[in-house]
Order: sequence, then structure tokens, then C-alpha cells
Amino acid sequence: MRNLLNLTNEELQNYFNELGEPRFRVKQVYQGAFQKGYERFDRFTNLSKKLREKLAEDFTLRSFKELERISSPLDGTTKFLWQMADGRKIESVIIYEGKRVTFCISSQVGCALGCTFCATGKMGWLRDLNAGEIVEQVLQMSRQAKSPPTNIVFMGMGEPMLNYDEVMRAAEILSDNEGLNFSRRKITISTSGIIPGIRRMADEERPYRLAISLNAAFQHKREQVMPIAKKYPLPQLMEAAQYYYRKTRKRVTFEYVLIAGFNDSLDDARELVRITRKVPCKINIIPVNSQDDNFPAPSEAKLRQFEQAVQDSVYAVTVRNRKGWDIQAACGMLYATNEAKGKAATHKVDVQTVKMKDERLKMKEKI
Ligand code: SF4
Repeated sequence: MRNLLNLTNEELQNYFNELGEPRFRVKQVYQGAFQKGYERFDRFTNLSKKLREKLAEDFTLRSFKELERISSPLDGTTKFLWQMADGRKIESVIIYEGKRVTFCISSQVGCALGCTFCATGKMGWLRDLNAGEIVEQVLQMSRQAKSPPTNIVFMGMGEPMLNYDEVMRAAEILSDNEGLNFSRRKITISTSGIIPGIRRMADEERPYRLAISLNAAFQHKREQVMPIAKKYPLPQLMEAAQYYYRKTRKRVTFEYVLIAGFNDSLDDARELVRITRKVPCKINIIPVNSQDDNFPAPSEAKLRQFEQAVQDSVYAVTVRNRKGWDIQAACGMLYATNEAKGKAATHKVDVQTVKMKDERLKMKEKI
């Protein structure tokens, strides 16, 4: 059965057209499903009984089972483990920071890119989520959050640019003004640097924010922690970021995971400033959250020294707190254990998967 959350406004409109129902049915259903968060069609009392039955015959409104929920006693960060209809598992996280309530959502089961500091990378890629599954994470968490989300970030499991179409469809559904009406400017798509995806997002002038995980300012170092850097080297990545700014006039956010003894020297900071100089941007410095002793967190003193060195030169620098580190919910720690492929724990790019998805992006670029 189809998931209604997987339908854009236009697709739902087509469905009602075929039934000979008026246009305003879309608004009624979108409001019930997204604003009121109804989980069953019998709650839609503004629709006739016959139509409610027809909708229940054709669609579901929920497909997830909550397997686990853990909240951090330190900062309230809450991590959810969901089981989807096919039995696959994904995680999503709510992060509370003052008035900010950030929903961090997944776009794939596992990830093909194998960044060495990332637990999800060890799983390998298992499958893409469809838009409905991405949207459902937001609706399920909205029911449980202390307050509605102020920000939605595609920084959970997976590389969003390798599931471009469904990620954009999900963002469109979430921001539809007849439904949840979530601010487009508060949705961030985060990429490890998939250049065709960045260029496509720029060409299509998508209204969402773009974040790029940089994590090293020297090419040889970046290749060590992010194997995908070999395919998309830093100079070309920076050109793509510039291109994105020229097209959209939106500042890019660069994420920089700081790892003690690896990328936290003053040389690293200077190089970071140098390569980002031409891109109007914001830099987020994130002390590493790895469970692996090979990636130690920097000392507070090193962190501040690095921040200071970058601060004077770029538009804005923030140090992101390590929210949720005690419950394995911080960046790079999302790992639905039961999904581990084991064989993928070698931190290599799953070349086949990336190649296939890349081809698709390029084809779309040409179109
Ligand atoms: S950091 Fe992101 S891109 Fe890299 S392996 Fe993890 S989920 Fe994939």
C-alpha cells in the first residue's frame, strides 16, 4: 500500500482529480496529515465517510515502528531507532539548544561513502529512503518532541546528494504551505562534497541551505578521512561552492570535524581560511564524536586556538557543542547496529553504488 506522506501536493491533487473530487480536498488532507499529525483516516472528520474509507483503502499514514528511544540526561538530545515497513532500520535525532529544536534526519539506510570517523559509514549502503520515509521521521518526532522543530537537517544516516530526488521531494512536502509549511530556509541539506549534487542544487535554485562537510583543508588529509575526496578534490569542490553562491546568493556552511593531532594545528586553520576565502560562508567546528580511539577529541585549549585562528578571517565561525555524545547520537555516531554489513567496516567508498548514483545525477544535469 502507498504511503500518503510520500505524495507531493501536486501528486495528491492528481489522485483527487481522478476521483472527481474538488481541489480543496488536497488542503483538507494535507492539513490533517501534516499539521494535525493524524495517524488514521477516521480522524479526518471533515471528509465524507466514503472518502475516508477510500483513502484508507489506498494509503497508509504511518509505516514506522519505534524500536528504541534514548534521551540524554545531560542535554535532552533524543535518539530514535525506527523499523521501516521492509524491516530496515534507521535513526533520527532531536537536538535541543536553547530555543533551537533541530531534527536530524536520515536519507539512506547506511552510506556508501565510508568516512573513517563515521559509524554509519561502516554499514555500507543498503538502500535509499523514499520521500515518505524521510517525512515520516519528522512527523513521528514532532509527536514526541518538547516543542516543534525550528530546524531540519539532513545530517543523519546517508549522503543526501546520492538520494537527490527523494530528498528534494521530501523537503518540498515538508515545506508545502498547505501542509506542515516548514520554513525552506530552515532546512539544511548536508553533503560530504558530491559536486554534481551541489551544482544541480544551484542550477535548480533550491531554496534550502547547503552544508558541506570539509573536515580537512589539505587534500591528502581529506582523502585519509573521506575517501570520496579522491573523486571530488578540494579545488573543484571549492569551485562548486562558489558556483552555488553565485547562483543562489546563499552562504554555504562548511562543517569541520576537529580531530586531535590530525587536523587541529594552526597550519590546518590557516589552510582552511585560505581555501574558503572566496566563498561567502559560515564555518562550524565540531569536536569529533567518534567511538574510535583513533580519532581523539581535541582539548578545549586546542579547540579555542583553532577557532580563534579561523575567526578573524571568515564570515562566521561557530563551535557546535557535542550534543548527544553520551547516547551515541552525535554527528557521525548514527549506526543502526543490526543493519551492519560487517564486510563494509573497511572504510572504503562503495564504488559501484556511488558510480551508479553519480551517473544519474549527471544525466539529470544534462536534462
Ligand atoms: S559522514 Fe556522512 S557521507 Fe560520510 S560515511 Fe557518514 S553518513 Fe556517509
